[in-house]
Amino acid sequence: MSVATVEIHLPALLHNVACFKRTAPNSRIMAIVKANAYGHGLVEVARFLQEQVDSFGVARLEEALQLRSIGIEQPILLLEGFFPDDSLSVLEKYHLQTVVHSPWQIERLKKFKTKHPISVWFKIDTGMHRLGFCFEDAIPYLQALAKCHSVAKPIAISSHFCSADEIDNPYTQLQHDTFDAFLNAAKKSGVPIGETSIAASSGLFAWPQSHYTWVRPGISLYGISPFPYHTAGKATGTQLGLLPAMTLKSEVISVRPHRKGEGVGYNQIWQSSRTTQLGVIAMGYGDGYPRDVPCGTPVLINGMRYPIVGRISMDMTVVDLGPKTIIKEGDEAIFWGPLLPVEEIAAITGFSAYELVTTLTNRTTLFYKTDSIPD
Ligand SMILES: *Cc1c(COP(=O)(O)O)cnc(C)c1O
Repeated sequence: MSVATVEIHLPALLHNVACFKRTAPNSRIMAIVKANAYGHGLVEVARFLQEQVDSFGVARLEEALQLRSIGIEQPILLLEGFFPDDSLSVLEKYHLQTVVHSPWQIERLKKFKTKHPISVWFKIDTGMHRLGFCFEDAIPYLQALAKCHSVAKPIAISSHFCSADEIDNPYTQLQHDTFDAFLNAAKKSGVPIGETSIAASSGLFAWPQSHYTWVRPGISLYGISPFPYHTAGKATGTQLGLLPAMTLKSEVISVRPHRKGEGVGYNQIWQSSRTTQLGVIAMGYGDGYPRDVPCGTPVLINGMRYPIVGRISMDMTVVDLGPKTIIKEGDEAIFWGPLLPVEEIAAITGFSAYELVTTLTNRTTLFYKTDSIPD
């Protein structure tokens, strides 16, 4: 077993949901738990949150079925819709909601015979240009969808922002206005329209006019800011009033003296300018910590920051502990967590915080804490 551990502080998730309820008091909350709940563990996160949120959003049918298999009864939405090989009878059997973004999906629904109509979210492309019907020809598709006997009425309408994390970007307001205009057109078309949603985390926190009837927070559920690190007052989850749930940590396995001028690690990309002590930590890119981090990236040991030196190896990371150190083998080393924001590590390394938390490997053991006071 590896000493690289991902510790998840579950009560932080509750704190974050409470924060969403204050920020978007008139909207319901769809907790986005795709990609193993952004690396936080799909099953444990969903089980812990099931009483607290109104529904769950996933990206894959398998993720939805996993939630049903552990007894989650809330609505579950397939955010990318059903895929060409997915069976509509499975959606029906497990009461899964689906996004409908393409004409081929309407054709499939048209042919599907069922006594239990499927709840659908018609997706309109307001500018992301990834999935969804474009405004100009969406109404006939919406009407065709409404004619399908396999489709429950009313029909919900969704869209997605492409740049809502850039708080000064006027494109978000344009997307919002397009969404609004489409909702008006949809209402006039005679199709019964139900729930509406466009905001993910950044819409929730920066664009209050975008809340509609459902908000869909993902990254912020885990206490991480969706905004770029230079965004004043919004750089970290903590600044947004959130509590980060994840701590990535391991331990020091060797403290060793190191001579001035000597290099360390593969290709000796760093040489020490002084005689010092190095700490070797059992954490590497095999655990999901990125290999290409600049020397100087901090690691927290006993509450103090130490700079990473040399290249990250598959299983190890080296830090410069300084000439006189009290750090010893067995001491805990934190790579990110409430006191060393993952957003800061993202900013230093050029990765996004989304990427850092979702690409940890399964060698890192997930470990859950339920006590109410975070470290
Ligand atoms: C992933 C996703 C979200 C959540 O986005 P965050 O930025 O993590 O809050 C919301 N809606 C859709 C359609 C998504 O794919």
